[in-house]
Amino acid sequence: MAEIVIRDLRKEFGSFTAVRGSTFTIGDGEFFMLLGPSGCGKTTTLRMIAGLELPTSGQILIDGEDVSRKPARERDIAFVFQMFALYPHMNVRRNIAYPLVSQGLPRAQVRARVAEVARILGIEQILDRPVGGLSGGDRQRVALGRAIVRRPKAFMMDEPLGALDAEFRERMAEELRALHDRMGATTVYVTHDQLEAMQMGDKIVVMNHGVVEQFGTPQEIYDHPATMFVADFIGSPPMNFLPFEGTVRPGDRAVRLGGVEIALPEVQEEAEGRRLVLGVRPEHVALSDDGAYRGRIEAVEYLGTTQILTIATPHGPLKARIPSARPARAGETVGLGFAASRLSLFDAGTGRAFRTAANAGVFHG
Ligand code: ATP
Repeated sequence: MAEIVIRDLRKEFGSFTAVRGSTFTIGDGEFFMLLGPSGCGKTTTLRMIAGLELPTSGQILIDGEDVSRKPARERDIAFVFQMFALYPHMNVRRNIAYPLVSQGLPRAQVRARVAEVARILGIEQILDRPVGGLSGGDRQRVALGRAIVRRPKAFMMDEPLGALDAEFRERMAEELRALHDRMGATTVYVTHDQLEAMQMGDKIVVMNHGVVEQFGTPQEIYDHPATMFVADFIGSPPMNFLPFEGTVRPGDRAVRLGGVEIALPEVQEEAEGRRLVLGVRPEHVALSDDGAYRGRIEAVEYLGTTQILTIATPHGPLKARIPSARPARAGETVGLGFAASRLSLFDAGTGRAFRTAANAGVFHG
């Protein structure tokens, strides 16, 4: 069990900076997600925590101890790779036992620990089977068993489910999360899949181009994105962006979009004649016959209980997720209502969200 504190962590490869000063805390026992697009620096961050890569600057504290310069073997962290390489000439029991045997643990203890791990993973019945003929899921469980058996302080997982097909992936994700809940060991998990991060994580760090864009619970990140990048990366369809020119002052509870007043959470910052962006999640748009802000339905995508409408507005296209019970057809002109308390306001130049009464406590400290 371990708390991991990351302070101003930076990694340069020659003239290229892969990680640009990350700061966040991974709580003891948390299932923690490093999320972002390919090349954003997730794996490099994970490798630095595990000690497989040394930081250019910054600190990594594990349970208060500065391990930034310590080699991997002194950090007591298990790294679970995407490709689970098992020893093909050994059976399941010996594969799992291997880390303990190579540490020189007495045989009775090895047997007891392997039995315990097999019970946790539900693989007691295959302990004496050769690994060669195992299904993908069982191979994955054996590999996990080999990581767990050492009882490390924390687990690092780099897209462990990346190679699996969708259905199997979902089952293994649930299993991994359940396993974590039984063991309570701090786990850091790299993924580029926002759904996986939202479903499995206690906390998420969203990275882009080596920068931490936001750090928080799945709900904080979804409801109160700190930047336009996060708002766009999380959610499907993603948040709509309606760009406009305007001025906001502290205390404002509305903005004007093409002459129409749109209510939003009380703004706490000032911006004078700036390019702004109103952020609206598709499910926070409603059709209202008397709405002054109007658009034209361009397309209807039927999804059963809900439908996704593509609506042309004076400020660009907008996706709305509305109940299918409300009939909608392409070509129809409709009034639009927005859930005021759920709107975000961004600075188009920096991409940063303005502080409002709704998000102030979440990411502005
Ligand atoms: P992916 O999901 O594609 O693995 P990632 O977010 O995990 O992406 P990293 O593997 O951390 O990204 O890589 C971040 C950037 O650093 C990439 O542009 C990569 O090419 C670069 N990089 C990583 N390792 C090295 C290295 N040893 N030498 C030079 N550049 C590197």
